[in-house]
Amino acid sequence: MNVLHCCSELFPLLKTGGLADVMGSLPLAQKKIGLDARVVIPAFPAIKDNIPDLKLVTNIDTFAGNISLLYGQYRGVDIYLIDAPHLYQRTGSPYHDQHQHAYGDNVFRFALLGWVASELSAGLDPLWRADIVHAHDWHAGLVCAYLAIKHYSAKSVFTVHNLAYKGEFSPYHLHQLELPDDCFSINGLEYYGQISFLKAGLFYANHITTVSPTYAKEITTHEFGYGLEGLLRQRADEQRLSGILNGIDEAVWDPSIDRLITRRYDVQNLNMRLDNKTVLQKKFGLPVNNNAPLFAAVSRLTSQKGLDLVIETLPDIVEQSGQFVLLGTGDSHLEAAFLHAQQQYPKNVAVHIGYDESFSHQIVAGADVIMVPSRFEPCGLTQLYGLKYGALPLVRHTGGLADTVNDCSLENLAHHQATGFIFYEATSDSLRQAINRAFTLWNMPKQWQQTQMDGMSQTIFSWETAAKMYATLYQHL
Ligand code: ADP
Repeated sequence: MNVLHCCSELFPLLKTGGLADVMGSLPLAQKKIGLDARVVIPAFPAIKDNIPDLKLVTNIDTFAGNISLLYGQYRGVDIYLIDAPHLYQRTGSPYHDQHQHAYGDNVFRFALLGWVASELSAGLDPLWRADIVHAHDWHAGLVCAYLAIKHYSAKSVFTVHNLAYKGEFSPYHLHQLELPDDCFSINGLEYYGQISFLKAGLFYANHITTVSPTYAKEITTHEFGYGLEGLLRQRADEQRLSGILNGIDEAVWDPSIDRLITRRYDVQNLNMRLDNKTVLQKKFGLPVNNNAPLFAAVSRLTSQKGLDLVIETLPDIVEQSGQFVLLGTGDSHLEAAFLHAQQQYPKNVAVHIGYDESFSHQIVAGADVIMVPSRFEPCGLTQLYGLKYGALPLVRHTGGLADTVNDCSLENLAHHQATGFIFYEATSDSLRQAINRAFTLWNMPKQWQQTQMDGMSQTIFSWETAAKMYATLYQHL
């Protein structure tokens, strides 16, 4: 079966979040189980400059100007690149300029991605056609509309990695994007008077998936649905909405082979992990102290991620002689608040504002607790990395976090099922209780280590498992 993934990020070449990690792993895992999985992506400089031996497939006139379709291979996966320098030859984020302003022509930049993907399913490359087009997030949502409107035979799957980003544009663009008037309707891609590429994916796809089963349920509710919950409930009733959990790329995230960390270790020699903690404390300029539990967060700084709650609870960590380190970038008021806390508690809190892939590995390899207090979390990868590396995840009970972490309750501890700490309300009080429970377990070193080992020994979060579940879905379609 031929599968075309349509997306805008690809690890390790271009990454702003978990979407890139998924795109860097899933197609290869699908190839390993016998699918011909390929990727179509805009030829952003980070992609185009790093895929060797690109070949021209075709030149074509489109509503967004003349473009070239290129083809190459990257890490064993076939990639189609949409080369349109007037749209994509911009360094940095694929979505916005260095001032965080969305590009004014995003409507064309990402409509073109969907349009080309739809044509690739119908013979744009004379040597290959897609049976399934698998679109990821709003950037790719329009392909589902094009396939349906043009009555092409390929089936579409739309995966929601994050429902919060809706890809909204003025309806005046409809004709420019070669979309008929009647799709601008509640039964179509209209969303509160705008065109929404996300809604296009949700409405027109043959099947919607989310990256965890719990998130698939949550988005059918008012609290998580952004007004799309009615449509999503309808799609769930039609059995066209389900959740498939992301995996971990074990070639990248495995403490026994990870070249980005100081001391490699596994579940048999956890004591070696301590060297990584020491290095981390030194690197962050904190006192080297193994008795202090080291809490950490590696995250985009947005309200979704709930790190404002962490700021409120830092005094609790400090009072109990814990340490906290942050690697993150995003909203300027959150960056400023963390930098302020660092000044306030220089012996306990250290902050690195920025995005740094290798630093993120060193943090999960050295921290004792990795905090993911999200208000909503479609899957979340950071807690999976924490589990794999023996940094106990402290998470809010939502989305993929609820599906992947088991609280250190007495029952779970007794049955070797405890893997982290869970809190329920998105409040600092609720988070504080989980932090206090982490301190309690910290004072029970045997149970702490057992919990690390039970988390590290899990094998359920694999891309092979996810690839097989997607294959079953494709077959069904
Ligand atoms: P999201 O996609 O919503 O940002 P995920 O947990 O799914 O959240 O994925 C986040 C990914 O980005 C993880 O691989 C995490 O390690 C990485 N990440 C987030 N912020 C940073 C940062 N500042 N530096 C390095 N890696 C980061």
